[in-house]
Amino acid sequence: MPISVVIVGSGPSGFYVAEALVKSEAGVAVDIVDRLPTPYGLIRGGVAPDHQSTKRVTRAYERTATNEAVRFYGNVELGQDVSLAELREMYDAVVLTFGMPGDGKLGVPGEEKKGVIGSAAFVGWYNGHPDFRDLDPCLDTENVVVIGNGNVAIDVARVLVKTPAEMTEADLPKHVGDAIQASPVTDVYMVGRRGPVEAKFTNVELREMGHLTDAAAIIDPADLPDEVTGDWSDRDRRLRERNLESLRGFSTAERDGKEKSVHFTFYAKPVEILGDEAVTGIRLEKTHVVDGRAEGTGEFFEIPCGLVVPAIGYVLEPPQNIPFDEKSGTVRNDDGRVDEGVYVAGWAKRGPTGVIGTNKPDGQNAAALLLEDIPQGAKPGRNAFEALLRDRHVRQVDFADWKKIDDAEIANAPDGAPREKFVTATEMLEYLDRT
Ligand code: NAP
Repeated sequence: MPISVVIVGSGPSGFYVAEALVKSEAGVAVDIVDRLPTPYGLIRGGVAPDHQSTKRVTRAYERTATNEAVRFYGNVELGQDVSLAELREMYDAVVLTFGMPGDGKLGVPGEEKKGVIGSAAFVGWYNGHPDFRDLDPCLDTENVVVIGNGNVAIDVARVLVKTPAEMTEADLPKHVGDAIQASPVTDVYMVGRRGPVEAKFTNVELREMGHLTDAAAIIDPADLPDEVTGDWSDRDRRLRERNLESLRGFSTAERDGKEKSVHFTFYAKPVEILGDEAVTGIRLEKTHVVDGRAEGTGEFFEIPCGLVVPAIGYVLEPPQNIPFDEKSGTVRNDDGRVDEGVYVAGWAKRGPTGVIGTNKPDGQNAAALLLEDIPQGAKPGRNAFEALLRDRHVRQVDFADWKKIDDAEIANAPDGAPREKFVTATEMLEYLDRT
């Protein structure tokens, strides 16, 4: 009897767990469950639509998904269609890889106003994630403020100021491209509570901001230190030196008639979102960095804007009955072990950090623990799960169905674009019904 494993979440961490399991010598049957009809998690719904080369990693995931030991069950939701307790009854092991889908809170007054949209929602919207199809962000504004100095903040800023020609090869859904191009947005302020040395952008992403067709990267040279000081590893110091060099380049570059601007606004922390019901601006306090921490200087300023996008990191809103560690904000675990027969990997285990590849060793670790704890299979796994789905009339989407969706999206692509996405689960299921 194979070791039956169910992986909850089909993003990178889920696929790396599955890959490690099928590559092991152990006999395994691996089922991957996702609440959406589509696989690949943040690769489809998080990686920026104009970064298609990053999305190519799905080819490797597809090889895993089509391995004979693996099955995909899309449109099946943990906590809704099946509980963790039921999965534990049916499978020898359950691996939780549902990532961190929620938005962190700024914790400042006015955060609930219309026009404050966290990056998880905003990125989901421009990536055609079904949860955010109807987000309708307030783009009727010249100024947008993006809070945070990470790669997500850069993604958001870049997608807002690129020209249609620069987005030709992106898979931005049509309604999103139309909304962005119809908007009067000219100025995006990317606000970091600390300085350029502490910023978390990777250098490739930062450099790209210096090469946009119609948007200039603006930075006050006074914010740029002469050198990187502080206690960094050699690798981190080199990254920061490269970032400083890129920012220095921005500070001396000519505008070349570019009509839009991305303002790198360092040393500023949000203190209040302004406006009545809707956002009209943001109040910030200037900071300086003391021992790596942003400390307020008592000097305040405001930026008028109609949209604020906090890109300050993701959080987990765990389904019911998942052991949760309040302090770390992750699924409670001991290096990947959650409970007997239950494991966790990826962002749900270690928090929302690292690039896609960071999940590979993490997935391998979860697979190794599982195989160490469970040398042989004893539970029915797939057969019992499929019977449960049938009993509950759950409309599951298998990998062949997903490939039909994939093919249709590719066939519907506008010129130059890789695909035109279906943006609701209903559209996807209706399409499958018709074919
Ligand atoms: P991140 O890299 O952790 O950046 C979060 C930013 O938000 C930091 O600048 C942080 O400042 C700031 N922040 C946090 N709380 C704040 C608050 N209360 N007020 C003001 N600022 C606050 O997170 P991310 O950008 O969401 O990215 C998540 C992960 O995905 C990262 O590992 C990232 O590299 C990765 N990613 C990679 C790519 C790519 O490779 N192209 C693209 C997207 C995402 P402090 O530093 O002061 O805390």
